[in-house]
Amino acid sequence: MIVMKFGGSSLKNPARIKQVAGIVKKQLARKPIIVVSAHGLTTDWLLDSARSALSGHSKVKRIIDFHRRLVKGLGLSDQSLQPLFEELRKMLRGISGFKKLTPRRLDQILSYGERFSCRIMSDYFRTQGIPARPVESFKIGLMTDSDFGQAVPLAGIEKKIASSFKNSKGVPVVTGFLGRDNYGQVTTLGRNGSDYSAAIIGAAGGAKEIQLWSDVDGIMTVDPRLVNRAVPVARMSFNEASELAYYGGRFHPSTLIPAIKKNIPVRILNMLKPDWPGTSILKKCSSRDVIKSIVYKKNLQLINIISTRMLGYAGFLAKIFDVFAKHKVVLDMIATSEVSVSVTTDSPRHLARAIHELAEFAEVKILKNKAIICVVGERIRKKTTIADSIFTPLKRAGIKVHMISQGATLINIAFVVDNRNVRPTVKILHRAFFRK
Ligand code: ASP
Ligand code: MG
Repeated sequence: MIVMKFGGSSLKNPARIKQVAGIVKKQLARKPIIVVSAHGLTTDWLLDSARSALSGHSKVKRIIDFHRRLVKGLGLSDQSLQPLFEELRKMLRGISGFKKLTPRRLDQILSYGERFSCRIMSDYFRTQGIPARPVESFKIGLMTDSDFGQAVPLAGIEKKIASSFKNSKGVPVVTGFLGRDNYGQVTTLGRNGSDYSAAIIGAAGGAKEIQLWSDVDGIMTVDPRLVNRAVPVARMSFNEASELAYYGGRFHPSTLIPAIKKNIPVRILNMLKPDWPGTSILKKCSSRDVIKSIVYKKNLQLINIISTRMLGYAGFLAKIFDVFAKHKVVLDMIATSEVSVSVTTDSPRHLARAIHELAEFAEVKILKNKAIICVVGERIRKKTTIADSIFTPLKRAGIKVHMISQGATLINIAFVVDNRNVRPTVKILHRAFFRK
């Protein structure tokens, strides 16, 4: 068995959906389970319509018209969708009436995107000779906690999921993104959650491979918008890809967890070039490249906390992190010295309160408009001159580095520069490490 997940952009119009059917047909012998996202931008539109329903405008027409046009373009009838359209309309009317949108309600509304697409896709597949059947993931044991909008799958759900596919015939087309809590309510796994669904289902069923199909060539050596010599990375280890996932990689950050647990290869593939090998993410992969990819995250604040009074005081770090935790400030990078701590964060929400509290026992300096650049590669561990290769050319170019850190896995080096220096920095590094 394999899992094939198709994202919203792969399903955004009839032409692409037809291509998707061709891709699935070629792999029928491998017993695929298909996982689908909502078509195109449907989830964004549902979000928008739920929020505007609060002020009396539901904007549901755009969503229904879009799906009607899709179905028509595929030569199908919209009969099986009618009851769902009606439910959605009713729910949005309820929000307008009560002027209330709870996270639980919002997840219910968002669920329609994937529920439409799993029906449309299986209806269309059947016209193409693929024996498909729609499956709603919240009915096959994909149980989660009740943290609506960000739900986390419960431990031990694999067995139930596996058994629901065990003796089933045909090709299941499963809703991505959706689960159900212990009280029977639909939940969502966070934006781009279909990748995660695909991995959960793949791990539960013991898939040979989890394929994530989108419309890009795979994981790139660097953002091609910044460096036009960027190329796709053929192979990556689970560790490397996990480091990248945090920097807005190509998939939901939790996707690799189930795959790693069961050691299932994950492939990032391009539906516009189905024969292109894409990027394979494997437990181990040998490669001569020291660095696999350069990634970045912009618009961070760098906070320097200095307190000479704390010299040698054992509770200093604990005290600082307690303050951040209390105000729910998420930290990215951390570096410490005997009397100072530097951290970066992109969660400005409660930052002011945290800073205020820190200022009671330390001097606090905030530097805005910063970015983290991170280079990732298993071979970094072995190359002792790596810091030189990175920082010497940057110094030569006059790029100031504010902070450096290397994780305990030793497969990445991250450092902070000014936002405006992101482009020159990644260009210099890409030239240094990927010129073949
Ligand atoms: N449709 C959901 C979203 O737009 C889930 C996904 O695309 O993976 O976030
Ligand atoms: Mg998506």
